[in-house]
Amino acid sequence: MSILVTGGAGYIGSHVCVELLAAGEDIVLLDNFSNAERTVADRISELSGRTFPVCDVDLLDREGLGRVFAGHDIESVIHLAGRKAVGESVSLPVLYYHNNITGTLHLCQAMAEAGCHSMVFSSSATVYGANPIVPFREDFALSATSPYGMTKVVIERILTDLAAAEPDWRFCLLRYFNPIGAHPSGLLGERPDGVPNNLLPYIAQVAAGQRTHLTVFGDDYPTRDGTGVRDYLHVVDLALGHLKALAYVRAHAGAEAVNLGTGTGYSVLEIVAAFERASGLKIPYIVAPRRAGDIAVMSADPAKAERLLGWKALRGLDDMCADAWRFASRAAEELN
Ligand code: UDP
Repeated sequence: MSILVTGGAGYIGSHVCVELLAAGEDIVLLDNFSNAERTVADRISELSGRTFPVCDVDLLDREGLGRVFAGHDIESVIHLAGRKAVGESVSLPVLYYHNNITGTLHLCQAMAEAGCHSMVFSSSATVYGANPIVPFREDFALSATSPYGMTKVVIERILTDLAAAEPDWRFCLLRYFNPIGAHPSGLLGERPDGVPNNLLPYIAQVAAGQRTHLTVFGDDYPTRDGTGVRDYLHVVDLALGHLKALAYVRAHAGAEAVNLGTGTGYSVLEIVAAFERASGLKIPYIVAPRRAGDIAVMSADPAKAERLLGWKALRGLDDMCADAWRFASRAAEELN
């Protein structure tokens, strides 16, 4: 029996696949390759020394999805496929709602038809909206500041309703904080299309000489140095959290939301300094006004993850930056 990983060629999905294979699980990688390169599947094979089926299927293709379940013996699903750019979701809300929500509904229908009822879902700390009280706890009220965020709120609600209606279903809703870093091999990492929205890929491109400077969005927040604070965690730690969540859904019915973060926040300038240490390079930056929709501090209360899943982030900021830089410098060399 196999684990279906939707979005398995993406930044987080690829790391999840590597860890599943290393743990001896069989996988089926599904991706529409809209925001991932096909070579990622080869790299996962190279790193794990194993082969696995790759399905080039869009979750909006309900029949295609049915064929995936008919053709493979799927035991559980780790569902990461979805559009994820906050700014783009503000300009293209219908695309985001349709893709993320309809895609998930199709997946639930196909799972039900196949008698598969357990799923680990890729949610996000964005479901806490503009909550000013930190750290964020799973029992806080949910809201969203963008259509992207609202797709996560709505999907969490759909899956929770489904688990309440039909006791066979089992879900773990993982609320990611800020995953950064890359596989230590330098073979897998985050390779954004166009201008990066997120801090780490942007800094990495400045370090690689692809951009002249970083723009720091606001230095007048009520934080240690005035810049925004986030709970960054290593993508390999995040991936390992999915394996713990899989073990949990195998053993428990219902729907549980769980934060995946470290509980420690770092400011933008602290991240710049850590990246400079890891790369030995200077990261020039300018300060600009705050970015619309940003809040001062986001950090996780990680207690539930440890209690329920037995998961804790182990990798520190220096490893996150060193691994991010190893991948980004390699990717920049490949471009030249
Ligand atoms: N940030 C920044 N410049 C950038 C991108 C991000 O100063 O080019 C800041 C942003 O304001 C926030 C932090 O870095 O305080 C993390 O932003 P990111 O977009 O990576 O994550 P999110 O805001 O979704 O938590």
